[in-house]
Amino acid sequence: MRHNANMTTAASPPSPARPLTGPQKALLKLGLRRDIDLALHLPLRYEDETQITRLSEARDGDVVQIEATVTASEVTLRPRRQLLVTVDDGSDTCTLRFFSFYPSQQQALATGKRILARGELRGGFLGRQMLHPSFKTAGGELPQALTPVYPTSAGLPQAYLRRAVQGGLARAELTDTIPTEYLKKIGPQPLWGLKSSLSFLHYPAPDVALATLEDRSHPAWQRLKAEELLAQQLSQLQARRARAALRAPVLAPQPGTGAGLAERLQAALPFALTGAQKRVQAEIARDLGRSVPMHRLLQGDVGAGKTVVAALAAALCIDAGWQCALMAPTEILAEQHFAKLVGWLEPLGVKTAWLTGSQKPKERRAMLALIASGEAALVVGTHAVIQDKVLFHQLALAIIDEQHRFGVAQRLALRAKLSAEAQEPHLLMMTATPIPRTLAMSYYADLDVSTLDELPPGRTAIVTKVVNESRRDEVVDRIRGQLAAGRQIYWVCPLIEESEALDLSNATQTHAQLSAALPGVFVGLLHSRLTAPEKKAVMAQFTSGMMGVLVSTTVIEVGVDVPNASLMVIEHAERFGLSQLHQLRGRVGRGAAASACVLLYSTGDAPRLGETARERLKAMVETGDGFEIARRDLEIRGPGEFLGARQSGAALLRFADLATDSALLAWARELAPDLLDRHPVQAERHVARWLGAKSEYLKA
Ligand code: ADP
Ligand code: MG
Repeated sequence: MRHNANMTTAASPPSPARPLTGPQKALLKLGLRRDIDLALHLPLRYEDETQITRLSEARDGDVVQIEATVTASEVTLRPRRQLLVTVDDGSDTCTLRFFSFYPSQQQALATGKRILARGELRGGFLGRQMLHPSFKTAGGELPQALTPVYPTSAGLPQAYLRRAVQGGLARAELTDTIPTEYLKKIGPQPLWGLKSSLSFLHYPAPDVALATLEDRSHPAWQRLKAEELLAQQLSQLQARRARAALRAPVLAPQPGTGAGLAERLQAALPFALTGAQKRVQAEIARDLGRSVPMHRLLQGDVGAGKTVVAALAAALCIDAGWQCALMAPTEILAEQHFAKLVGWLEPLGVKTAWLTGSQKPKERRAMLALIASGEAALVVGTHAVIQDKVLFHQLALAIIDEQHRFGVAQRLALRAKLSAEAQEPHLLMMTATPIPRTLAMSYYADLDVSTLDELPPGRTAIVTKVVNESRRDEVVDRIRGQLAAGRQIYWVCPLIEESEALDLSNATQTHAQLSAALPGVFVGLLHSRLTAPEKKAVMAQFTSGMMGVLVSTTVIEVGVDVPNASLMVIEHAERFGLSQLHQLRGRVGRGAAASACVLLYSTGDAPRLGETARERLKAMVETGDGFEIARRDLEIRGPGEFLGARQSGAALLRFADLATDSALLAWARELAPDLLDRHPVQAERHVARWLGAKSEYLKA
């Protein structure tokens, strides 16, 4: 291995008896716990300390390493305190300038010392100089490899981290876990072994084409990416198989008992199911009829009609004598579901309970009793549904709407909560933010996916316009036109994350302004500070058609269904994420009227919009297809934000990039089952090595 000659002592792992030092704590904070974690902590970039350049041969602007003797060393106070060191390498001289320095450094740079200094050479009025070069005493052997520069954090000096990583790399157990026959399938270019790949990436040979390290196309990088993707696939496959070993209630219609609840519900609906709804319903029914817990994601664009599919699944469950729970991320959304499901199912004799955080204790107790006794066959609510106090009589199906809005931790809590000793409930997750294929294949490989790819008939296309804030008056004119035609309007103000107060004042201002501009029109205001009953009252006024314009912060984001609303104005659209814009836009175009969405933007003090904001608004105008939107969103934001995993601490891919590594992903996906079957021990080692404690999160 080509290690740097002057770095021989390896930092050893902290002994449990002694308190941790600052740098040790900082290492842990970066997640660098095990030797393998250190070995997988790859450099951000490299410095070339393998060469010595003669000053006479270096040009201004070059980053070079010189070996020279200090001929003068002095601290001057003007124009400010600084250490000026003159060095001579026999070909020329140069000045090293330090504005901050320790006495020990000053000593190491005393006249007569022979040093190696590395930095950018600059020409200047007083001759050539280097500002704050790195330096050390000359005389040691030059390293044979590039010097790694690692991503680090406060309190973790680069030199300490280098030693720690070097130690981890030396100690880590790095024998290959991927059989050679599999590696051969990756492509014509032979892949490197894991150990040599890591050694190389930490200490590359000086003649490496740096571009291949930067764009991660180097075979050593390919190897790491393949390893990582394989670990992810294996862990998801393990989760899938573990679930396949669990038992869930079989929820199938009893033969010979006449029309089941689901059929009666379907017959009572005021509309016929779309082809996509029928197909998806059949997929779900098939899962529910098996004794293995379902783990299915139902994705469908806003307005695709997911709720009725959920209701039909609930009906199958209830008909088989079990309970079903439906959970939504916000109270308003939960309430809409509740109203809809009660409307559909109560006439058919189904008792429904309602659970939210804002409920009065007395009502809540009553609901809990209904749930515990099993009298309520259906339970609808917010997170309140998974709280400790809620005991189900016999839960067999849990439906989670807008599942991506629940954090990973909440999803884990849900699983833990719902699993009984002998039986596990079926799980149906729904989302209006479709998951692009590569993400579905990687992060959600453990899910079965059903897709509603068809909107109910009679929907009108929504025309989207991007309008500068300065033309607000024209937008108000347009509102007048819509109101005159008997239509209703949503006006959404942005969420200002840092400040709920600002947020509110913005919405309040707009509300006042529109009220003044539209005399005789009922303009309502909805925001997060209202109590649940207040919100409910405002929504009811809008739904009933009394209210012409609803000004709102993003609380109406999901689920609201008012077919008479034909215009959506989004203020400061540049501050919204793409998926969010798409979801908001989906609130209109639900009835027969031609609908429009106006994206008002402001550039603030800047002459024009930033790149990302522009791309987002452009995407909104160009497409109304939720899948295309999701794909572009992924492109713009990257998977981290897309998955909302930033806050949750879920392990994301560190090395592979789904946009560029789809071939490797396909390879890993194909290989994982075979590896697990034929080399289970190796597969286990592979997952443990790569994921360690993180694998739980990936399975959530
Ligand atoms: P989402 O998928 O966004 O949750 P919803 O379930 O709220 O969509 O459905 C949107 C609207 O479309 C609702 O008013 C719903 O009753 C209606 N709907 C659902 N399916 C159909 C259908 N097959 N034909 C006509 N309308 C439908
Ligand atoms: Mg919905």
